Amino acid sequence: STQVNAAMIDSVVKHFPLCMQNLHRELRKNSHLKHFGRLQYTLFLKGIGLDLNNCIEFWRRSFKLIDESKFNKEYLYNIRHAYGDVGGDANKRGRGYTPYSCQKLLTEALPSAGQSHGCPYRTFSPDNLIALLQATGVNDRELLKTVRETVGKQRYHIACNLVFETQHKADLKKVKEQNLWPASELDTILHPNTYFKRSFQLAN
Ligand code: SF4
Repeated sequence: STQVNAAMIDSVVKHFPLCMQNLHRELRKNSHLKHFGRLQYTLFLKGIGLDLNNCIEFWRRSFKLIDESKFNKEYLYNIRHAYGDVGGDANKRGRGYTPYSCQKLLTEALPSAGQSHGCPYRTFSPDNLIALLQATGVNDRELLKTVRETVGKQRYHIACNLVFETQHKADLKKVKEQNLWPASELDTILHPNTYFKRSFQLAN
């Protein structure tokens, strides 16, 4: 499995799906994220292999305008809780909560002003979505046009998969030609952590 630590996150963000890149960008911009964004991102980071101590360190460093006692009082518990280190019922203890799937992120209540959680293919206006994609390095005009059409038909995770496939076209071609991955690893992506895993593997 992938060994990631707190200091590495900024360098692997390029392998994150748009939902998590958006949270990361908002976090870096404001040195803060609201509750549901923190939860979504914490569970994703757990899913990419960040352990509890590194996750705490990541949030502690990211919330740089917040002092130690406020951080410990208001934020620490929820991070530990997500990892199953505290609270929850007995069967969650020790494991904590499962990273959210696309299905969950695509059906939960929409974020209100100032919140950044959810799937941007669904929560952003088409113009803002295209601007976000461009800001994360997606510049293929034909692709952006297709994304706009696809989200217009509310096929949000299909748009996300199109971005993945276009951004990794050459590497995926090689993987397919040389049978490097089992067929199941080439199925439609239905989970943000699958997106990361495939993108990271293709680059490493
Ligand atoms: Fe994230 Fe899934 Fe939306 Fe892609 S389709 S941005 S992985 S929630």
